[in-house]
Amino acid sequence: MPPEAIATDVLIIGASASGLMCAIEAGKRGRRVTVLDHANRPGKKILMSGGGRCNFTNTEVSADNFISHNPHFCKSALSRYTQRDFIALVDKYRIPYHERDHGRLFCDNSAKDILRMLLEECKKAHITIHLDCHIQSLDKDEHKTFTVRTSLGTFQPGSLVIATGGLSIPRMCASPLGYKVAEQFGHHIWPTTAGLVPFTLQPHDKERLADLSGIAVACLVSNARIQFRENILFTHRGLSGPAILQISSYWKAGETININLLPELDVVDFLKARRATQANTRLKTLLSRVLPKRLILALLGEDTVDKPLQELSQRHMEEIARLLQHWEIKPGGTEGYRTAEVTLGGVDCNELSSRTMESSKVEGLYFIGEVVDVTGWLGGYNFQWAWSSGWCAGQVV
Ligand SMILES: Cc1cc2nc3c(=O)[nH]c(=O)nc-3n(C[C@H](O)[C@H](O)[C@H](O)COP(=O)(O)OP(=O)(O)OC[C@H]3O[C@@H](n4cnc5c(N)ncnc54)[C@H](O)[C@@H]3O)c2cc1C
Repeated sequence: MPPEAIATDVLIIGASASGLMCAIEAGKRGRRVTVLDHANRPGKKILMSGGGRCNFTNTEVSADNFISHNPHFCKSALSRYTQRDFIALVDKYRIPYHERDHGRLFCDNSAKDILRMLLEECKKAHITIHLDCHIQSLDKDEHKTFTVRTSLGTFQPGSLVIATGGLSIPRMCASPLGYKVAEQFGHHIWPTTAGLVPFTLQPHDKERLADLSGIAVACLVSNARIQFRENILFTHRGLSGPAILQISSYWKAGETININLLPELDVVDFLKARRATQANTRLKTLLSRVLPKRLILALLGEDTVDKPLQELSQRHMEEIARLLQHWEIKPGGTEGYRTAEVTLGGVDCNELSSRTMESSKVEGLYFIGEVVDVTGWLGGYNFQWAWSSGWCAGQVV
């Protein structure tokens, strides 16, 4: 080792969810571990996650909750370090948490609890964390030694772990370093796109729906591949809310999505039954019992909503049902990485070991967390992937 090299067995780039988990596990095995991050504090995304309460995992986790070009890849890691293992760690630190819809687990108090727990575990495992550290170059020579030049000096670790996350939220220190390193070492990268991200609208929809900002409705949102039953939220920029974020990860530019605003109701039967008993009631009065008035008006138009039920023909009722239950909307685009929670695509799983996350091309090189082509649904799955993949690498680095 050259005299100027800073001693470490394992060098991890990225001091957030996956990097810290990997560091803890490797440190417990007695390895000398250094974690580098260019941010001025560790775990920035943990702190901003789940609206500040960190949806740290889910009670039910399976490969079906993830998107990847190799849907089987995540199974091994998820089964070796499960949501129950992470919950046990949270319990050990007596962090209060609660369960929300769809098995999502959130801190009662703050995401800071999760970060504090990870940093405490790092301390116990004698991990060195350097912040404000900039990576200048990364190489591996013919003696199979990595040389990582940084603003703090040079490291020559036996194992190099890339835990730099995706491209989402650049102002939170996201960078493409992980993808660049993968490419440098000959890895294939699946093209990256923003996932779990709000939609923007085409100009005519933006105008038509402008007054709906702030309205949330429980819906069934679908496309040809998948469906999600959750809330949608109208915003001044477009469409958001959990159902929209979920489907955005399955959306390709130019596609339409289908929104069923009344998934529980047979609308034609409902209208017919009410027409028989409340013939003079106006459509808007009836529908405002099940949907916000402003939304009904925007979708059906003033002429239709002002009609008394007795004026509605079968054809009218079918058309109303179509507009409310098969609302086809073609988003203008997404808000992109600026607001996306995750990045789809990334380092090709077929070139990594599913058991250890080690590169099949370069011995001693590992990729963990979001930089890998494994993207979870909304609901704590992305953190679970970070914990599981970080834990697996931590057993062997
Ligand atoms: C607003 C928001 C809310 C979210 N909420 C949730 C949630 O509640 N539940 C959930 O499961 N998931 C959530 N996610 C997703 C989750 O935060 C990520 O999937 C997870 O943090 C990925 O962990 P990671 O360790 O792979 O990467 P990251 O957490 O992104 O960490 C990467 C680290 O690498 C560092 N880094 C990057 N580039 C460089 C470089 N060039 N040099 C040095 N260091 C570098 C970064 O500073 C960062 O510390 C949310 C994401 C966002 C943006």
